[in-house]
This record gives sequence, structure tokens and C-alpha cells, in this order.
Amino acid sequence: MEIVVERLQEHNIKPSMQRIAIMKYLMEHRTHPTVDEIYTALSPTIPTLSKTTVYNTLKILSEQGAAQTLTIDERNTCYDADTSPHAHFLCKSCGRIYDLPCDDAVKKVVDTDMDGHEVQEIHYYYKGICKQCKED
Ligand SMILES: [Zn+2]
Ligand SMILES: [Zn+2]
Repeated sequence: MEIVVERLQEHNIKPSMQRIAIMKYLMEHRTHPTVDEIYTALSPTIPTLSKTTVYNTLKILSEQGAAQTLTIDERNTCYDADTSPHAHFLCKSCGRIYDLPCDDAVKKVVDTDMDGHEVQEIHYYYKGICKQCKED
């Protein structure tokens, strides 16, 4: 719980009960969940929670840099508590999103002179068929 509160405070986000619950879920579930998944998982324990609150909270977390928004799956926006540069692999068969290490060259872009532009996000997306689906 404390780690979650610290994470929110580090990013200048007021730690309300619902924000803590959403951030905690994201930190514990590294499956890149969607708004729907988080809402479905948390609503039984937080009956006052609405889907709009989940959406708005994830937006704040993302804007403040406490989480990142993934648009790898065009049907669903996904969220990731891991904000370090890493690549994502979307399985076109099962829809799972996997974390992959990304090339050092990609990480270096952050430190490259971008002609005065400030890079805040780098997305590296791969799509294909995952190991598990290939085995079936
Ligand atoms: Zn798969
Ligand atoms: Zn990830």
C-alpha cells in the first residue's frame, strides 16, 4: 500500500482511495489491462467506482507519468505501470500483450538532440503470434 501511495505522490497525484486501488491493480497486474478489466476487477470491492472514474484516473496516471498508455491494440487502450522503455508484443491470435526488452538504440533516442523537441514517450510495438498460440 505504501509503495502505491509513494508512487502517486512522486508524480504529484493526490492519493485518493480509488486512485490507490487503480494504481495498485496496475502495479500488481503486468498484463496491460484495459479500463474494462480494471473496472470489473475492482467494482466488487469498491461499489462506488464508475467506469468513468477508472478511465479518468488512468488518464491522470498516464499524464503524470505514473503509468503509460498503450495503443498497440486498436480496439482497446491498455495501461502499463512499467514506464521504463520497453517494447510490446501483441499476439494477433489471443490478444495478449507481452513485454519485450527493447534495443539500446531505442533507449538512446531519449538522450538524442531532438532539434529542441522534448521526447516524453517512445512506443515500440511488435505484432504477431505468441509462443503459446504457436504451440496449440
Ligand atoms: Zn497468443
Ligand atoms: Zn509493458
